[in-house]
Amino acid sequence: FNAKEQRGSLRFFSDDLTAAVHHRLQLEQRLRRALEQDEFCLYYQPQWSIDGSRMTGVEALIRWQDPEQGLVSPAEFIPVAEQSALISQIGSWVLRNACEQIAAWQARGIRVPRVAVNVSPQQLYLHHLPQEVANNLQQTRITPALLELELTEGALMSPGLEAVDMLNALRALGVSLAIDDFGTGYSSLAYLKRFPLNLLKIDKSFTDDLLASDEALAIVETIIMLGHKLGLSVLAEGVEVEAQRMELERLGCHQFQGYLKSKPLPAAELEALLLGDQC
Ligand code: C2E
Ligand code: MG
Ligand code: MG
Ligand code: MG
Repeated sequence: FNAKEQRGSLRFFSDDLTAAVHHRLQLEQRLRRALEQDEFCLYYQPQWSIDGSRMTGVEALIRWQDPEQGLVSPAEFIPVAEQSALISQIGSWVLRNACEQIAAWQARGIRVPRVAVNVSPQQLYLHHLPQEVANNLQQTRITPALLELELTEGALMSPGLEAVDMLNALRALGVSLAIDDFGTGYSSLAYLKRFPLNLLKIDKSFTDDLLASDEALAIVETIIMLGHKLGLSVLAEGVEVEAQRMELERLGCHQFQGYLKSKPLPAAELEALLLGDQC
């Protein structure tokens, strides 16, 4: 190395950093505009009883139709939104829209399944989530039991957050509570006992490895057993092949969600599925 090359690589590194920050700021700007221009929509992925015979619920998943770049994945923009104040606005949008959709289906006499909504850690931190949920229930007059909130382990373990109080307040409204991506976060098993939960969602990474790895099998078996002992329903995410579903059924898993039976669908397609079901 000589000094010149070192300076060069330093400058290169700093250019990279500038580009990354620039990209993030630009994405934030576009997200702000997307909120104003109403470019988001919700897709709904069915969840099934483990034998696949009955739809037990759906998960609402946000989609962004960017006029410049087409459909942008939430995996790309939610983490950016979570680093700014935008996530609370997007979160509010999702909650309101899911409730309005449930109300619209109920008004048309469609048998509505439970609708699960993803909640970011920052939405819990703001401490007014129970009030916001209460407002939405009141305004849309939906059956509270039709709404489920998906929280992550990390959000619940945050120091300084009175998670138990907040979860009790949410349950008192009649909504149900799920832990998303279970097994991937920092968990303390003690909290499972204290928190008023309804559902554990086994993360897709365990489902992926279930048939190939003894370790994944052991983890899935243990989560299912835990669910049984604590009286919680257990749902496996990301089930793509029949052999996975069969193994999960053998292990006593209650529900599944995955491409094996259905991808996330636009509201109109889910509706067709629900109506077909009723015939
Ligand atoms: P998640 O909540 O764990 O959602 C499950 C993700 O797995 C979804 O991706 C879904 O489309 C995908 N998936 C479901 N079944 C299968 C399968 O069989 N195979 C494969 N390969 N994938 C499957 P999606 O919609 O891209 O969402 C990604 C993540 O973005 C979500 O993970 C969630 O963490 C976040 N997200 C999505 N919508 C929202 C939202 O409205 N609010 C918040 N805060 N986060 C959201
Ligand atoms: Mg989820
Ligand atoms: Mg998940
Ligand atoms: Mg996941």
